[in-house]
Amino acid sequence: MFRATALNLHFSQPLAIVDLETTGASPRHDRVTEIGIVFMADGQVEREWSTLVNPGCPIPYAIQRFTGITDAMVQDAPHFAELADELRAQLAGRIFIAHNARFDYGFLRSEYRRLNARFAAPVLCTVRLSRSLFPEHHRHGLDALIERHQLYCSARHRALGDAQALEHFLRSVVAPLPQERVAAAIRHAMQTPALPPQLDADAAEDWPEGSGVYRFYGADGKLLHMAASAQVRAAVLSHFGPGKKGGGLSRLARAVTRIECDETPGELGARLAELRLRRLQHADAPETPWFALRLQAGAASGTAALERVDLSATEPGEWTDLYGPFRGATALTTTLRELCTAWVLCAQRVGLEAGRGPCSAGKRCKGACSGGEPLATHDLRLATALGGLRMPSWPYGGRIGVVERAWDERADIHVFDQWCHLGTYSPADLPDLPDLRVDLRFDGEVFRMLPRQLAAAREVLDLTQRARSL
Ligand SMILES: [Zn+2]
Repeated sequence: MFRATALNLHFSQPLAIVDLETTGASPRHDRVTEIGIVFMADGQVEREWSTLVNPGCPIPYAIQRFTGITDAMVQDAPHFAELADELRAQLAGRIFIAHNARFDYGFLRSEYRRLNARFAAPVLCTVRLSRSLFPEHHRHGLDALIERHQLYCSARHRALGDAQALEHFLRSVVAPLPQERVAAAIRHAMQTPALPPQLDADAAEDWPEGSGVYRFYGADGKLLHMAASAQVRAAVLSHFGPGKKGGGLSRLARAVTRIECDETPGELGARLAELRLRRLQHADAPETPWFALRLQAGAASGTAALERVDLSATEPGEWTDLYGPFRGATALTTTLRELCTAWVLCAQRVGLEAGRGPCSAGKRCKGACSGGEPLATHDLRLATALGGLRMPSWPYGGRIGVVERAWDERADIHVFDQWCHLGTYSPADLPDLPDLRVDLRFDGEVFRMLPRQLAAAREVLDLTQRARSL
């Protein structure tokens, strides 16, 4: 068959298209409940294999409904330990192919790890393959692929059914494409990056391609580095390239022994998650209050033309006509001193010094404090100096929800009002979001990240109105 042969050209080894059903999403905490495999060699399906697996724990009700696999069905099925040797023998020498392979491959490796065994195989992720072949599409979940390419699937969300759909995808969608294009996409999807020697050679399979937060830990379990990224895998790998001067690995790359990643549907969620994690880390440290400044136009002689506003102790209704924000009183004072120097402002008039009569700036003040300069002239210069710090007012009518969707259509709704983050919710919570009762507290870090994120947001919901569904 022409098509089968075309596919075969790209692989030097036989294939195992694997799909697992599990009790949940975490390879560390959840267990496998079903394994389905389509074995291919020479571009042809050799055989299919599937079995239920007794997870040794109850299957959450929502998952039972999702997969149709119930506690009763797995009750008499073999435990993974009983299947481990047979499965290893079946997969030996094959390329492990799965949709979002880090999930299936990660689960299998965890199951083997529980048995104090190791499992490793060359891995091809069909999400990466699809992304690489069809970059014009945002959705690459199995539902999207089935719909887009009209794939055959005997039973969606059952292990063998999903594996069959992937086999159909490879044979009828991928194989007929121009060979060079397919070869490049497969190379990309299978690329095993060079990692520092102290890391597991296939650790990179665990790192999401999309958004999330990643953390580097050292041998003593100490957190060495944490960052949010819209492309976690690429960001993590960027630490392991040659150094800036072309030398060897960076100090961080040499010290890291473990990497953890949390996936989020989008970049905003990743940045909010990073913020939350950093705060958890410093939960014992006292919170630094945020301040802002307000210009008092026409303030009388001898009084300051700037009012300090404690953002952390005020309500959003008072956050109007402000300049800032400043994290802590020291940051505010430092900025004011810099502005005084750069714009020849009066230390007394800007509120850095109290009292009447000439300020301590001497010749570096044009005399707003001593009648040497009209107050209006000084204050106009002050307004110009502050211009770049002007805090924008909230551009919406009230509460909004920023929707972020992952490649597999998982979605988060980040709720904001007056630059404050009220929380992140799932689409199921949507009807309740207009009525959430949350105190709005000023958060300078959210304030600073949000304008750029909102400008890039694809979907913003008006939550002053009730919406029934996304
Ligand atoms: Zn002065």
